[in-house]
Amino acid sequence: MRHYLDFILDFIFPSKCILCGRYGLGYVCPECFSKFKIPDKYCKFCGRPLTGISEICYNCNKENPIWDGFEFLGYYDDMWETIIKNLKFRNKPNVAKFIADLAKDKILNKKWDIDLITYVPLSSKRIVERGYNQSEYLAYFLSKSLKKPYGPLLSLNKDIKPQKTLSLKERKENVKGAFSLKEEVKDLPYRNILIVDDVYTTGATLRECVYTLKNNIKFLDKIYIFVAVRALL
Ligand SMILES: [Zn+2]
Ligand SMILES: [Zn+2]
Repeated sequence: MRHYLDFILDFIFPSKCILCGRYGLGYVCPECFSKFKIPDKYCKFCGRPLTGISEICYNCNKENPIWDGFEFLGYYDDMWETIIKNLKFRNKPNVAKFIADLAKDKILNKKWDIDLITYVPLSSKRIVERGYNQSEYLAYFLSKSLKKPYGPLLSLNKDIKPQKTLSLKERKENVKGAFSLKEEVKDLPYRNILIVDDVYTTGATLRECVYTLKNNIKFLDKIYIFVAVRALL
């Protein structure tokens, strides 16, 4: 539950900087915003930083990526940790709007042809705890800023444990067979889909989502990924 003072303060002062706490300057104030490190050169399929002339990292080169494009806003650091915590646990889905506003130009620059924006589903248990799916909020606000429809395509078959403490192998096992395509979207004519999530670490969850979409949607052509943050292990 939010503290009642939050409601009052949100009403008097439209928003408080989630990083430094000052009121009235937006969800992230200009001063904090200027401290963001913008990623420079990175793998076009997973966001890993690159130094040479290649556009693809060693891993993606080795394991042919199963999606067609990838975009993100920054690498996981203290600032992003605070933003993601706010997005996830402090009942501030408006943080999702801030992220979507930041993402708009980056995604438009990619010139992706997007028919539908969707998101990684969350277990009903966690939706009850949290009150919402943070990735759905991201998809919702991105759909507004990109003027594209959004909707759920996947449902969860089993409860997946939080991936954070698991090894790469355990993460793959944890999400294996976890998703299925919603019955009602099987015959819809989507060709190009953007999937949205908050944090990308090993990509195991997103990979499983993409497999499920590719194996079940008839007319599927391209799948793109947007995540707010890329965590480097
Ligand atoms: Zn600030
Ligand atoms: Zn890569």
